[in-house]
Amino acid sequence: MKIIDGKAVSQSVKERVRDEIAEKNLKIGLAVIIVGNNQASRVYVNNKKKACEFCGISSYEYALPEETTEEQLLEIVESCNNDSRINGILVQLPLPSQINEKTVIEHIDSNKDVDAFHAVNVGKIMIGEYSFLPCTPAGIMELIHSTGTDVSGKECVVIGRSNIVGKPMGMLLLHENGTVTICHSRTKNLTEVCRRADILVAAVGKAGFVTADMVKDGAIVIDVGMNRNAEGKLCGDVDFDNVAPKCSYITPVPGGVGPMTIAMLMENTLRAKKLQTL
Ligand code: NAP
Repeated sequence: MKIIDGKAVSQSVKERVRDEIAEKNLKIGLAVIIVGNNQASRVYVNNKKKACEFCGISSYEYALPEETTEEQLLEIVESCNNDSRINGILVQLPLPSQINEKTVIEHIDSNKDVDAFHAVNVGKIMIGEYSFLPCTPAGIMELIHSTGTDVSGKECVVIGRSNIVGKPMGMLLLHENGTVTICHSRTKNLTEVCRRADILVAAVGKAGFVTADMVKDGAIVIDVGMNRNAEGKLCGDVDFDNVAPKCSYITPVPGGVGPMTIAMLMENTLRAKKLQTL
């Protein structure tokens, strides 16, 4: 069994982005918009700013108060849409309840939508024509590639069908010719379905959900979950201690999928620049 080192893989993606930006002497800007005082969001935003700094991308932070109205937020998005220094726009989710997330996402210029949440970019992902990569699933593909595994013909099972992880994950695996099953809370015989998987991706949001009896010997197990256990410690969806001995490769939490999402965001910001200037 080998543990996939997400920190190392994410570092190499960020270095790739940094080197290309430096080599081509590109001026790139990312707007990061955060509304309210969500502590987890604050941590994510700070990490994104650090990654920008590393890659040579200018970050423009808009920290707005909790009571910001939808109209005010849309105005800021609009000004970022029209600002040529800004190539990518990221609105940190979740937003306070008075703001409709879908309305805000659809207001972002789809050529600056570095999270790939806009319906135009979601549609492009479906047909395999990526302007932007869906960050977390694309990061997972990098992790799988880092093992030297060819996805083609493999049984791939994704647990979870969210718009940001499960569904686009299924698409990326399908585009690499995996045989893909997407499971959810109504899936029958989940254990048996998971046991078929050569590649099992868990994006459920429940600590310890994937147990050893759900995993085939030699499978690659990717743990997307970011949960807090009873002691408040960060943990994934996989019962790591019992599952790991059965796997060929497994991602840890923390240090697996988590660092990849930000690295892919940097790659998307570089893609945005190219999209807008080429
Ligand atoms: P989500 O929107 O809550 O989706 C969870 C999915 O799990 C749903 O499709 C749900 O099915 C399914 N599910 C729940 N209980 C189940 C059960 N008993 N059996 C089978 N399926 C079940 O969550 P998400 O946004 O995709 O995130 C999933 C996890 O990944 C969370 O822990 C989140 O924090 C983490 N995450 C990590 C990153 C990262 O960068 N590492 C990024 C995004 C998310 P239904 O659709 O039927 O309800």
